[in-house]
Amino acid sequence: MSVASRAPAHIRSLSPYQPGKPIAELARETGIPEGDIVKLASNENPFGMSPKAKAAAIAALDEGARYPDGNAFALKAALAEKYGVDMNQIVVGNGSNDVLEIATQTFLAPGDASVFAQYSFAVYPLATLARGGRCVQVAAKDYGHDLDAMATAIDDKVRIVFIANPNNPTGTFLPGAAIEAFLARVPADVLVVLDEAYTEFLPADKRYDSIAWVARFPNLLVSRTLCKAYGLAGLRLGYGVGGAEVIDLMNRVRQPFTASIIAQAAAVAALQDEDFVREVAENNRRGMAQLTAAFAELGLEWIPSLGNFVTVKVGDGAKVNAALLRQGVIVRPIAAYGLPEWLRVSIGLPAENERFIAALRQALK
Ligand SMILES: *Cc1c(COP(=O)(O)O)cnc(C)c1O
Repeated sequence: MSVASRAPAHIRSLSPYQPGKPIAELARETGIPEGDIVKLASNENPFGMSPKAKAAAIAALDEGARYPDGNAFALKAALAEKYGVDMNQIVVGNGSNDVLEIATQTFLAPGDASVFAQYSFAVYPLATLARGGRCVQVAAKDYGHDLDAMATAIDDKVRIVFIANPNNPTGTFLPGAAIEAFLARVPADVLVVLDEAYTEFLPADKRYDSIAWVARFPNLLVSRTLCKAYGLAGLRLGYGVGGAEVIDLMNRVRQPFTASIIAQAAAVAALQDEDFVREVAENNRRGMAQLTAAFAELGLEWIPSLGNFVTVKVGDGAKVNAALLRQGVIVRPIAAYGLPEWLRVSIGLPAENERFIAALRQALK
């Protein structure tokens, strides 16, 4: 009898998360120099991070032998000010992925269930199953969330509902009013995790103030990240805003030091550089137009997206992906999401988008 064989059945049946292929890995496999590889696979920020965030991160290295502030005072103070909430309504995580994990760890006991949509973020089932929870996956509507069906799926065993808006990997969007109406239908003892990893990319006319809803719905946890639009993916920094009671419990469960001293310093500086984020969002809109124009020209179907990525139907996703990799272009196959004919492409810099389009044209031949 091995140790592994005695691990709980719900752990042994997990499949690991499949991340985007690292540039260095493709370079090792193909001999293509790293500098010639274009990675549009993980919804990273093609501009990197704000120079102010980078300077703060470098300065924080001097303190690298010290433990970070486990309470993330400066960061929470900045966020509390930005959103008009109390610091005790904020939990900081090692990326927002961590916030999702902490929420699940806090509110889901073995045998409890979580509700989420088909084609939504892979971490929802992973986090649920890792706690011995049960997944209630609700059929998608037009590749997005069917909120009516999700509300109907909530029964006594359901403790958490996950909603990603915009959704990943499909980029679909729910108007704020629809989410607000959904919240009013959810029992007060069920946590709603509203995962807004891409909210900074929304155009002005699509924005809504979810954090303001927390006062009315203390069972709402809004999850945000500095890893996407703010460009801190490699430093890892996410946070949740919710009711003080929810956050208090999450703070008991989380690791004592969820965010490194470097990530915290960079985040505080990044939050002060909104011009950078605006520029990132502008580039994203132009890049989205660039890619979708090419898809139209190639006669390819795509799912209209409000994220920093777009999902396109290419036929045999695995084959086209392999042909792209041979040309040094990394995108994201999403067969594991039940979308084997589609590839998800992150919006890059104009030249990176162009490289992808040329490689795609070649791959489809
Ligand atoms: C990328 C992503 C996250 C997690 O990002 P972090 O890097 O952990 O902050 C969370 N939710 C969705 C929907 C995402 O696409």
